[in-house]
Amino acid sequence: MSENNRADKHVKLFIPGPTEVRPEVLDAQTNWMIGHRMPECLDLIGRIRPKLGKVFMTEKRVLINASTGTGFMEAAIRNVANKKVLNCVNGAFSARWRDITVACGRDNAVLDAEWGQPILPEAVAERLASGEFDAITVVHNETSTGVTNPIEAIAQAVRQAPNGEEIMILVDSVSSMAGVAIPFDAWDLDVLLTSSQKAFALPAGLAFAAVSDRAMAKAKTVPNRGWYFDFLVLEKYLLKNQTPATTAVSLLYALDKQLDDMMAEGMENRYARHLAMRDRTLEWAESRGLTAFAPEGYRSPTVTCISNDNNYDIPALNAFLREKGMIISNGYGALKGKNFRIAHMGDLQMADMEELFAAIDEFLGQ
Ligand SMILES: *Cc1c(COP(=O)(O)O)cnc(C)c1O
Repeated sequence: MSENNRADKHVKLFIPGPTEVRPEVLDAQTNWMIGHRMPECLDLIGRIRPKLGKVFMTEKRVLINASTGTGFMEAAIRNVANKKVLNCVNGAFSARWRDITVACGRDNAVLDAEWGQPILPEAVAERLASGEFDAITVVHNETSTGVTNPIEAIAQAVRQAPNGEEIMILVDSVSSMAGVAIPFDAWDLDVLLTSSQKAFALPAGLAFAAVSDRAMAKAKTVPNRGWYFDFLVLEKYLLKNQTPATTAVSLLYALDKQLDDMMAEGMENRYARHLAMRDRTLEWAESRGLTAFAPEGYRSPTVTCISNDNNYDIPALNAFLREKGMIISNGYGALKGKNFRIAHMGDLQMADMEELFAAIDEFLGQ
């Protein structure tokens, strides 16, 4: 049935989200509907929890909610920031976190780095020396520029600040979690959030966030956390394998299946596959006289942003690719035309990348 519906107009997504979802995972969503208070759903969430913990590399809670990752960005601010937030901004998504901080009425300051450059731990340490901050926001993988920020070193710099033990380290890993190892416990992070539709390779509509004991304790002291995204309410239900409001049951079925497949692949293999696809993408770009936008050492394992040094017509390239059933991304916002982005995340394989490069080469007449 659905196989036929899906057969036409399949455009394979090499964009940095939403990403390709395998047919088996799409099919998992067609299980019979169940109530979110029924034992079947409690079993489902009970199966999911330990597997999610492995992906987040944590023994702590991983909250699940029916929203996208942006919901948990807002939740992180509302739950654990009530003094002053340092927003590290080096691209579009880190700028969103600054906007959310301001929209939630929190005092803030911005540590800016040029788009395409990483946030450096030294700069973070310098800003935190004043002792006035109680939270820091940073994006692990800036999808708009293809830059991966050095979160481990940034977290160390935070903990060494005068009031480092009180500072909440809030990390957006929307376009990296499940494609890159991000050890939540070992790096001593406080909130680490993601969406279902990026490197998890699921449809959009679920968000996950690992939350530290430190952050849970802080939340208890912060008034006006709201309700839908209140960490305390979410945890209370999670402990019963439930969610406070109706959850996206169909997506949970897909998540359960996808987590099984991730465990079968092995997370280390999954991370290695992403790195190999990144390296192949860089090699292809270099062979065409193109360079990565991000500096060496900070190039994302999940999305490569390539400077459009040869002035390719990106919309024309994408129109050509679409005919072949593929699509890539133009540069983000002001970077449109100046660069283009190729995602190599989720369940894409090296063979998919080769197919893409062959098609681009054909467009370029090489
Ligand atoms: C896609 C993305 C977001 C936004 O995620 P939603 O699922 O649309 O809320 C936030 N941060 C990063 C780094 C992203 O790539």
